[in-house]
Amino acid sequence: MRLRVLGCHGGESATHRATCFLINDSLLLDAGALSRGLSVPEQAAIDAVVVSHSHLDHIRDLPLLADNIIGVKNKPLDIHCTVPTADALAKHIFNNHIWPDFTKIPNPADKSADNPTVRILPFESGSTFKIGELSIHTVQVNHPVDCQAIFVKDTHGTLVFSADTGPTENLWKEINQLDDLVAFIYEVSFPNNMRQLAEVSGHLTPEMLAEELKKFEPKTDAPVLLYHLKPGYTDLLKQQIAELGDSRLTVLKPMDEFDF
Ligand SMILES: [Zn+2]
Ligand SMILES: [Zn+2]
Repeated sequence: MRLRVLGCHGGESATHRATCFLINDSLLLDAGALSRGLSVPEQAAIDAVVVSHSHLDHIRDLPLLADNIIGVKNKPLDIHCTVPTADALAKHIFNNHIWPDFTKIPNPADKSADNPTVRILPFESGSTFKIGELSIHTVQVNHPVDCQAIFVKDTHGTLVFSADTGPTENLWKEINQLDDLVAFIYEVSFPNNMRQLAEVSGHLTPEMLAEELKKFEPKTDAPVLLYHLKPGYTDLLKQQIAELGDSRLTVLKPMDEFDF
């Protein structure tokens, strides 16, 4: 399984990019900093996006992606998300005010007459479904809006993306059952002195992360790849993560690439 990190932060600056992961060149997990990390042909090669939740740092570039592929991509872009996230995208993004409703606009490059440029395809939390060769499974996590951890399985194993979450039990129950875990992308957002903000906003500090990882009983030696560091605290967060002394932890950087 190939992972390209297009963005791995909980915000943006000159050196930080909002969350977006590309799997096997064709599936996106979230769509934060998507557009500026990929050429238009690379964007047109994306068949589907699984969106964890509706927060802006995870959906921001969906409208730009839809615009870039019209007239270029010869089939619809499928956006998979839960009903609350689908409703938010329809009401607040593809609403003909912020951006055109690309779910109603045909794509001239697509010869199938009835196809829109974008299809929003809701799934049930906890369900398992196929996107091409990949098997997708989601698990509800702990965040102020509906938010899904995303399990992606191909022939090499399963990658788990926690999405944004505070402390949770659901995720550990499911991840600990996997016998083919290849990588775990896990969130950490705020430094230890901001624990109260982390708790109310459904995020983790390094101390909270260490407490949560006590519930992690993996059957493989999968790396734990940390994302969602808030841009204002990256250096302090890296220091506090290093102080945990956990050799499984790696802090992701934009444009990192992995083969699992
Ligand atoms: Zn976020
Ligand atoms: Zn969020």
